[in-house]
Formats: sequence, structure tokens, C-alpha cells
Amino acid sequence: MAEVNLFDRAKDIIPGGVSSPVRAFGSVGGDPVFIASAHGPYVVDVDGNEYVDLVCSWGPALLGHAHPEVVAAVQQAAARGLSFGAATVTEVELAEAVRARVPLAEQVRFVSTGTEATMTAIRLARGATGRDVVVKFAGCYHGHSDALLAAAGSGLATQGLPGSAGVPASATADTVVVEYNNVAAIREVFAEMGDRIAAVITEASPANMGIVTPAADFNTTLRELTREHGALFILDEVLTGFRVGPAGWWGLEGGYEPDLFTFGKVIGGGMPLAAIGGRREIMQHLAPVGAVYQAGTLSGNPLATIAGLETLRLADNEVYATVDRRSAELQRAVGEALTAASVPHTIQTAGNLFSVFFRDEPVRNYEDAKAQDTAAFGRFFHAMLEAGVALPPSAFEAWFLSSAHDDAAMNRIVDALPAAARAAAQR
Ligand code: PLP
Repeated sequence: MAEVNLFDRAKDIIPGGVSSPVRAFGSVGGDPVFIASAHGPYVVDVDGNEYVDLVCSWGPALLGHAHPEVVAAVQQAAARGLSFGAATVTEVELAEAVRARVPLAEQVRFVSTGTEATMTAIRLARGATGRDVVVKFAGCYHGHSDALLAAAGSGLATQGLPGSAGVPASATADTVVVEYNNVAAIREVFAEMGDRIAAVITEASPANMGIVTPAADFNTTLRELTREHGALFILDEVLTGFRVGPAGWWGLEGGYEPDLFTFGKVIGGGMPLAAIGGRREIMQHLAPVGAVYQAGTLSGNPLATIAGLETLRLADNEVYATVDRRSAELQRAVGEALTAASVPHTIQTAGNLFSVFFRDEPVRNYEDAKAQDTAAFGRFFHAMLEAGVALPPSAFEAWFLSSAHDDAAMNRIVDALPAAARAAAQR
């Protein structure tokens, strides 16, 4: 019997063949790689090909894949039982570890995905303020809950969709979308409807339209405006939290105090785990203490919380210094290769996260991000993949490094860059 192509087999049984849209390679073309295993800075496909990984599971693998101490802790926890649906000591310890890094997260509630974390933060803000309107920024992605699927980045930016089918107008009727980094526009919104706004939610430093760093006064202004008008300020650190530094983007930038944080990705060390953290007085509105309902069969799962706890324990200053250094090395090498091949590009950073826009002007917002040459990125992506380097399969994503990216892995990436840059230059 003829062997069936794996992607065809997957597409027959799973819509698009994938469990999350960007994995289907829609914006770069070609068939996705099916991963069988991963170790350190590498992923290995089902045919045994090894790639240097610059996706790092879209963020969680800060220490590299399958870190032996994290794996051992999870294995030991697994032997004690996979899920109890009851309170555990590990979740208390992880919540304490989060607060030790981000003291403003006075209380912490665990959920399983970043989507749940932001959805809960919005409900909490609405419940605590008694108001309905939520302000978000174009190109910021906060997961796929209905109210936040308006002008979102990530998979939606990739597909160029304005929102999503299946989201009723009523679900986004109280969501106001404002251009990112536009202080005048956000001031106008508050002047017009400040007394109806429950919260402003923003990515701490946006990474889902590519990296768009907040202007120097942007997050501080959001804090001041929300406080002035009795609204809450929600800092979404699902992607940046515990990745760009020990206390996330907030820890790097400083100078303002959000009411609520959302965390995900690194906090679960690769397992399904996310969290909401914030001021005690606000967190106390959550059930069972308060009237804002939130729950989850697998919330605070013992395997996920131990993976997160072990990851945070291992993520010391040296880990962050290593990732910072590797990121700077790679940015330099990518810039040199693209310049040598005369490919227009701009590299933007948020701590150790960076992304490469295939246009030569700065990107300040979603409109700027969409104005890049995505076809050039597609050619670059496939040349890198061919040479054994797995980039995020979209021009609208950050590149992720880990503390496991050693000289050997870095050299493989650097060696692949000149040919990929020349491929990007070809029309
Ligand atoms: N918030 C941000 C900033 C994200 O980057 C993401 C996912 O990429 C989410 C929320 C949603 O997280 P999840 O994919 O775990 O639902």
C-alpha cells in the first residue's frame, strides 16, 4: 500500500491538520514539519532530521527542551498521580514563587491557558468595577476568547482576518480597539467614555504583530489614565513574563503599577499552565471569596505546577544573561546577512525577544507591521528550514532563544543565514 503523506492524513482527520492555525505553515507555504522529540536547543522531526529551534514552543522553553531536572520533577510527580482536582502544595509554592518575582501579584489564580487568563482578567475587571467596556490595542493578541478577538495579532495577523467568524457582534460590542503606541487616541477614548471603561488590556511589550516596543511613556500613560478614570490596568505578560527577565517586561521597564497581570508560557515550563495575578483587593472578587466566577477541572494541575516551579527555580540571573547574550549575537548575525544581500529589514527587540520585519522602516503599530514583505520572509524561512533551522512560520512572530542555545547551535544558525538572505532577496 502506498504510504500516505502525514500532512494529508492529518488534514483528513484534523481541520487543517493542526491543533493551532499557525502550525499549518499557511503564511509561508509548504507542508509543516511533524516533530517527534526535542532536546536542548533542537527539535527532531518524524524522519529523524534535527533542527535548531527558534520557536521554543512559542516561549515556554526558556531552559531549552526537556531540561533533565524539569523532566525528572515531572516524572516523579506523574508517578504520584496525574490530576487530583483538589488543592495541592505545589500550586501554593508556585504562586509564592510568582509573587517573589512580581510582588504586585499579591494573589495568584492558576488556569490552563493564556486565553483563560486574559478572559478571566477581563471578567474580574468588569466584576470589580461594575463597568463593561474593555480597551485593547490593534495587533495585540490576548488569546481567542470572544471579547478579545477584535483586531488581534498572532494567527489572525498572519491570516489577515479582521476578527473571526462565529464571534457575535454583541460579544465585541464593549471592546474598543485603539492603535498601539498612539497616546492621543487613548486619551480621546478616555475623554469620551472614561466612566464606562472597566479596563485597558495591553501586551506588556507586544510580540504578536512581531516585536513592537512600547514608546517610553506608553505603559505609564495607560496606568495614569486608568487610575484617573477608575478603570483597571491589565498587563498581559503571557508571552514576556519570566522570559525577558526574572520579572518579565514589567521588571525590565518598571515605573508603573498594573492592577492585574496575566502570565502563561514560561510559568508552566512547557505544560498547560497560566495565571492571573494582582492586587489582593481585586483578586478577592474571584469565587469562592467573591462573586466573579472562574473554575477549571485541570487548573493548577500537579504536573503543570511542578514543571513551572522547577523552571522558575532554574531560571536564575545566569540563564537570563545567557539568553540576552545569544539574542544579541543572533540579531547581529541576521542583520549582517540581510544587509549583505541588500534585503530591506528592521530588527526590533523587547529584552531578549526580537523579530525581523522585512521592511526598512521602524514598526510602531499593526499597520506598519502589515506593510512588510511577507513573501521575502517565506523564502527566508524555507531556506533556513532546509539548512536545519526552524524559525517561527510567520513574519508576525518573535524569535525565541533559550539558555540551551550553545555555540554549536548558534554556529549552525549563523552558517545558514547568508544563503537564506540571498533567497529572501530573490523575487
Ligand atoms: N496573551 C499573549 C500575549 C499571548 O502571546 C498569548 C499566546 O500566544 C495568549 C495571551 C494566549 O495564550 P494561550 O495560547 O496559552 O491561550
